[in-house]
Amino acid sequence: MSDILCAKCEEPWDSWGVSHGDMEPHEAARFHRGDGCPACGFATRCVQCSGSGFDQETGSRNCFWCQGRVLVYARRLLTGQTANPWMVGFLPDWRPIPPEWIAVATKGRNVGLSGSKQGPVVTHAFVCPDCAPQAEPCRWCNGDGRLRVAEGSDLRAAISACDASDEEPLGILAERGIF
Ligand SMILES: [Zn+2]
Ligand SMILES: [Zn+2]
Ligand SMILES: [Zn+2]
Repeated sequence: MSDILCAKCEEPWDSWGVSHGDMEPHEAARFHRGDGCPACGFATRCVQCSGSGFDQETGSRNCFWCQGRVLVYARRLLTGQTANPWMVGFLPDWRPIPPEWIAVATKGRNVGLSGSKQGPVVTHAFVCPDCAPQAEPCRWCNGDGRLRVAEGSDLRAAISACDASDEEPLGILAERGIF
């Protein structure tokens, strides 16, 4: 089995995995139509900086919150009576974010839900307030965080999909709006 490229960001995805757990069924359907993939948020964000607009190498490596990626991934337990804190890191070294960041974290991009012993946990990504002032803009998107779609990516993706499938190539191209 071979990889199928995303029609927007050209991220390679294992053709078997796309239909077997690497994507949700509704995501796989969009992927096969050529709308994008989870890595690029279906063409909504730059894959090099995850949409932060900052070069992921230019934060402070000693930053506990982002480890220099300039993006903080904070998670919060969704159960209980009171608002649970946004946490960063993993046991035994995890900490609640500073109180002045809570509004930013709450408005951050929802990365998804996962399970834990205590209940469902949501993860949000947001730009690290400590590192943003010193970080450099992402050179792939010039700092706006948007995906730049390369010319011909839809065609290259369609060819990879034909190579990875036993289906009629015409059907694959039609589904992607190429024919
Ligand atoms: Zn993509
Ligand atoms: Zn940081
Ligand atoms: Zn970028």
